[in-house]
Amino acid sequence: TEEMILRSEKLSVVGQLAAGVAHEVRNPLTTLRGFVQLQKTKGTVSQSHLNIMLAELDRINFIVSEFLVLAKPQVISIQTFNLRKLLNDLVMLLDGQANLDKIQINLPSEGHPAYVTGEPNQLKQVFVNLLKNAMEAMPGGGTIAMEIEQNTQGKVIVRVIDEGVGISREDLQHLGEPFFSRKDTGTGLGLMICQQIISHHNGILNVYSELGKGTTVEVALPGAAKRDAGEQNSE
Ligand code: ADP
Ligand code: MG
Repeated sequence: TEEMILRSEKLSVVGQLAAGVAHEVRNPLTTLRGFVQLQKTKGTVSQSHLNIMLAELDRINFIVSEFLVLAKPQVISIQTFNLRKLLNDLVMLLDGQANLDKIQINLPSEGHPAYVTGEPNQLKQVFVNLLKNAMEAMPGGGTIAMEIEQNTQGKVIVRVIDEGVGISREDLQHLGEPFFSRKDTGTGLGLMICQQIISHHNGILNVYSELGKGTTVEVALPGAAKRDAGEQNSE
């Protein structure tokens, strides 16, 4: 069934995320250990050291809780929320894996909030899959540019633009078919799930690509009004 497929794909995404998460958590832990060691041997940890330690602890907490959101099957809850914030959080989570792969993900941190109504965890899964595909298309590293805008009809448009291997004209026609994959260890379920989730949100997913140049995946979702957003999601 659809739900079973969603869950198995989620596991494989989570498995791949784990390496990046471990890397992201180890860096702040190394910093923290250094300061604890300093305090133990010299007793010279200062107030500003403590502020760094607190920030590093907050970062570990953030990464682990983001990871759990993706790893745990979630209760469906439809909300109005700022998609820009969701994408910002997601890019922070994926940065560890991206750095390991010499990939830079550019998401302009400035810009108007982009409110949409939907299931935040499902939409998060869509963009994890799209970013993962973009990363896998650039085995030698490179840049992924993300764009968010609201067009004149009020639609929220998100683009994930990579400079990877690209997709042939022939393969483009098979995208979104279950189990269509050109990868040795691919499931060929990622784009199908993305398309399903986006169409459940009354949106559209388009793929533009040129072999050897790169791929742009564009997601268009109906925009929502900020006044519909819950307190905790309104920033
Ligand atoms: P999987 O990633 O498991 O192969 P997907 O459904 O996510 O399955 O993608 C299907 C296929 O579409 C991939 O195997 C790849 O050939 C192609 N593809 C998807 N996204 C990209 C991209 N950004 N760049 C190049 N090829 C892509
Ligand atoms: Mg994929």
